Amino acid sequence: MTNNKKSSPDRYALVGHPVEHSRSPLIHTVFARATGQRLTYELIDAEPAAFETAVRGFGAAGGKGLNVTVPHKQAAFALCTKLSDAATAAGAVNTISIAEDGLHGYNTDGIGLVRDLTVNLRRALAGKRIVVLGAGGAARGIVGPLLNEKPEELVVANRTKDRADEVAAKFADTVLVARAFEDLAYLRPFDIVINATSAGLKGDAPPFPPGLVGPRSFCYDLVYGSADTPFVAWAKTHGAERAVHGWGMLVEQAAESFAIWRGVRPDTRALLKQIPR
Ligand code: NAP
Repeated sequence: MTNNKKSSPDRYALVGHPVEHSRSPLIHTVFARATGQRLTYELIDAEPAAFETAVRGFGAAGGKGLNVTVPHKQAAFALCTKLSDAATAAGAVNTISIAEDGLHGYNTDGIGLVRDLTVNLRRALAGKRIVVLGAGGAARGIVGPLLNEKPEELVVANRTKDRADEVAAKFADTVLVARAFEDLAYLRPFDIVINATSAGLKGDAPPFPPGLVGPRSFCYDLVYGSADTPFVAWAKTHGAERAVHGWGMLVEQAAESFAIWRGVRPDTRALLKQIPR
């Protein structure tokens, strides 16, 4: 008699709120097929009050791993019993392995972004002036890996300035500066402008001073979409050299998560072509 439990594919999921439009199930299904791994990938919509129960319930039902998205990355950090260096530095977790001895937390956002910028889009970051707009879970994950690329200056700016200060204090690097959005109006345009906020998604104009962007600015939106995102449209209107959405980061951070869970890093090239930039 076959043991159904043993022959079932391993279960993974994305937990966040909202999650219904996520393309992560598609990405992980493509990776699984390409690498010959048997797994399923589900979506779990959980409001903040239900996050811990959702994670523990998935583990109790045999789930092997989770991706974590808005707004739970800092809550996931607090739940994990073991943390990777990147997760510790970020204070945010986007990938959980559910192990016998507890929850192991990782952060693959930063490596995913840097790989997309430097390998897929061929943008050097060393010696550049970079601004990260936002100080939430995603911004925390990308600051450390961006600093590792040795920019000339890295400014973290946020609507709530205190949260930008918290990020700067966490990394305590001499090239890292925290600002409020309005302070950016007095600076010259940046070489690389990265949007790590969810501003503009409800139809309002992104609240950033136009002077951030000049004809040599490369603008990158962590948000992705098949049409121009509000930030990409804003950056183009303000004369950016180029503005792209974050599909490549999503694919690359997913490949890193997949490698953590399954021990094999999938080739990302076919998926990257699915949404042109
Ligand atoms: P989060 O922890 O909830 O943080 C949200 C950030 O957006 C905060 O800095 C917040 O500022 C800012 N914000 C929200 N509404 C705003 C508004 N109307 N005006 C100005 N600032 C506003 O979310 P997150 O996890 O950092 O994610 C941020 C975005 O990145 C999301 O859209 C997410 O989907 C995207 N993302 C994409 C990828 C990818 O792989 N492509 C990976 C990670 C995240 P305050 O602190 O002032 O509230």
